[in-house]
Amino acid sequence: LPQEFEQAIPVLQRIEAAGFDAYFVGGSVRDTILGQPIHDVDIATSAFPAEIKELFPRTIDLGIEHGTVLVLWENEQYEITTFRTEEAYQDFRRPDKVAFVRSLAEDLKRRDFTINAFALKKDGEIIDLFDGLADLQLKILRAVGQPHERFHEDALRMMRGLRFVSQLGFTLEPRTFEAIYDNHQLLAKISVERITIEFVKLLLGAHRNSALKAFVATECYLYCPGLKQAGEALLRMADLPERPLNNEASAWTLLIDQIGLSTAEVRPFLKQWKCSNELIRMVQSLFEGVLLRKAGPFSDEALYHLGSEAARLSEELLYYYGQEVDPSVSQARYQALPIHSLKDLAINGRDLLSHFDQSGGPWMKEVLAAAEKAVIEKRVANEEKALLAFAKTIVLNNL
Ligand code: ATP
Ligand code: MG
Repeated sequence: LPQEFEQAIPVLQRIEAAGFDAYFVGGSVRDTILGQPIHDVDIATSAFPAEIKELFPRTIDLGIEHGTVLVLWENEQYEITTFRTEEAYQDFRRPDKVAFVRSLAEDLKRRDFTINAFALKKDGEIIDLFDGLADLQLKILRAVGQPHERFHEDALRMMRGLRFVSQLGFTLEPRTFEAIYDNHQLLAKISVERITIEFVKLLLGAHRNSALKAFVATECYLYCPGLKQAGEALLRMADLPERPLNNEASAWTLLIDQIGLSTAEVRPFLKQWKCSNELIRMVQSLFEGVLLRKAGPFSDEALYHLGSEAARLSEELLYYYGQEVDPSVSQARYQALPIHSLKDLAINGRDLLSHFDQSGGPWMKEVLAAAEKAVIEKRVANEEKALLAFAKTIVLNNL
């Protein structure tokens, strides 16, 4: 077993010593069998939340009504979730009620895909009630049970399926694919935030292109923000070279460029997806960088305004347009710029006030902006004397 599981064995032992069952479950079991690194170790148990809280001194309630308690153990933390069924789904998203049960099989039955429905015992034995091991071998994503029912119960599972296509390079088993196609309009019931999380994982996965094709073929894209008209563009994007995107801002930028948004449309589009303002600003810079860089090397002024990160990431994106550029050239030019922000300028507002017989006002901002530009373009040295002389010519011109 990987060391993350080994470390957690005492937790299972303590639960079992109290007479309950406990297993490792979820994505970490799947990823271990695939030989991939794991992030979080999830535990499922027959013990009820109150019983778990009695067994461990340090716990945090994560959602008692869903049966999840966070147990702090040594320097690690484990989500321990009581076996449950999710009987009544009324609105295609979350169960109205979860029922705690004592049976592992019941718990595994409510999981989304066969490869996510393993349980792993502490001795390493894998419990595989739905032939998930065979599906792993075949690289197939197959819904547990009746696919129609399962996507009807919880429509988010369709987006999860597509993101696993991208992350794992698996294909959707035909009946599972059909069921997604038939139920895709139920995505309208799912909160945008939850769809966004899965869609970003889809864009960042190593098998983005086949996932994008399935995203279009199942028509799920029709119920995602701002993509109703984007079917063809998404398919064009699926024909770009399949180098994984390594950050969220780059992923959105490539998408936005493919679907042909204008600069002004970027913000409203990303707002619909509930992206943070910080992310939106980064995407706006990257998008500007890509548009500029497609036309030719960055000017010094463009480098200055983009900053080093946006310049580097937008040059990395050029790869998808068949232009491989070495970002270190621009990075060196960026480092060599005489200033990197207005703070680096050898004069400031106070210097202007003390050298010119004028009261403060918008003229100062204009003069500083002109000085900033002149320094970046190396027309004036970044020295107080030179800059004050330069400022004087502007102030005189404007009088
Ligand atoms: P990741 O490696 O990205 O964390 P994961 O498979 O662990 O992938 P989680 O969202 O962490 O995904 O969920 C943990 C487990 O809970 C899943 O493996 C699956 O068994 C179950 N699960 C999660 N979401 C759903 C859902 N919407 N419907 C059914 N089962 C789900
Ligand atoms: Mg997980």
